[in-house]
Amino acid sequence: MKLFLVLACVGLAALGQTGYPTKFSPAVAERADVKRALGFIDAHFEEQVAEWIKITEIPAPSGQEQARAAYVKAEFEKAGLQATVDASGNVEARRKGTGGGPTVVFAAHMDTVFPAGTNVKVRREGERLYAPGVGDNSTSVANLLQVIRAMRDADMKTRGDIVFLATVQEEVGLKGMYAWLERNRGMADLLVGMDGALGPVNYGALGIYWSKMKFTGPGAHTNRSRGVPNPVLAAARCISEIYTVPLPDKAEEVSAVYNVGGMMSAGNVVNAVPQEVAFTVDLRTVDKQLLATLDDAIVSKCDAAARAQKVEFAREWIQKSEAGGRPEQLAGARRHPIVQTAVDVQRYLGVKILAGNEAIASGSTDANVGVVNGIPSVSVGRGYGGDNHTLREWSDVESARIGTKQIVLLAAALTEP
Ligand SMILES: [Zn+2]
Repeated sequence: MKLFLVLACVGLAALGQTGYPTKFSPAVAERADVKRALGFIDAHFEEQVAEWIKITEIPAPSGQEQARAAYVKAEFEKAGLQATVDASGNVEARRKGTGGGPTVVFAAHMDTVFPAGTNVKVRREGERLYAPGVGDNSTSVANLLQVIRAMRDADMKTRGDIVFLATVQEEVGLKGMYAWLERNRGMADLLVGMDGALGPVNYGALGIYWSKMKFTGPGAHTNRSRGVPNPVLAAARCISEIYTVPLPDKAEEVSAVYNVGGMMSAGNVVNAVPQEVAFTVDLRTVDKQLLATLDDAIVSKCDAAARAQKVEFAREWIQKSEAGGRPEQLAGARRHPIVQTAVDVQRYLGVKILAGNEAIASGSTDANVGVVNGIPSVSVGRGYGGDNHTLREWSDVESARIGTKQIVLLAAALTEP
């Protein structure tokens, strides 16, 4: 059955120059309704940039996206869609197709990594916008809204339905998307995450485990501290032990990395052994097996250090995004037309991508959730920019036009049967 389905997909999609099946050809962009939609984006680009600035200036730390979500919902509705906000805070609207095509979800996260109170005023200097969160991911949110308007203005017809989704809490473990998919099992046939820079299309998922390692003991005044089980010593020994856990060579196609103690906490006074000491571990790889093995090894080191020091140890999860698999395990995913279609659309729009680097079996966006749930998924860029997750973050204005047109072309191509 599975083999039949794969063959059916390949049969329906033309084989691109690369030998991978694709649903895009220049004829898609030449369709009268698609051309009108692309024309709308050009004609209204300055308004789009103004809205992009407006969105950036609505603070939206992870978990506090409500104001930005309210804006997005109102704009979905003004553009003629019925929008809802789910229990997580995700904003969602469905655009009906004429029937017979797959349902495609386009998702852009609304949250930023910047805490409440961060100055998010946008400064424009020539062809660049500067502000925390201006690129990641306000660009995509603005792109998404403009795609909806362009498709409406052009009366663009698609066979499959499109679900437009603005998610919450992407930056803290893709939580909004995990919850959305859980609530809407079976709804998405294809998933496109709108995040990151234009360039290689991501069709995999980088596994990311964030843990808090907590050591606890009875504590004691310094005067009475000799021989008292000490969580500081356990944590210190554990950290040096973790750094002996071997990793694959950096140069290998699939590697892994951990960072221990990005955040640490211990006591509050000089003259006592603290009762609790904690540090974080950030562990990452696309290899599911390796992720589990490394995680086990790290936890064992903590267990052993706690036992040796006679203190308690507990691991608390901060976030857990699962790995998609090694490239060879994702060979089937690479052959799904969604990947080459996205590559071909970018090429058509003039995006420069190094040969051999068109599609990557990694990713750390909302699309990861689709990948680990077996839904054909990619993430595609919003434009160009840099210094993401810093106060110096900037975006190139003009490239958002390409990022937006890309979504229109993907909507036209991917909703076809
Ligand atoms: Zn992002």
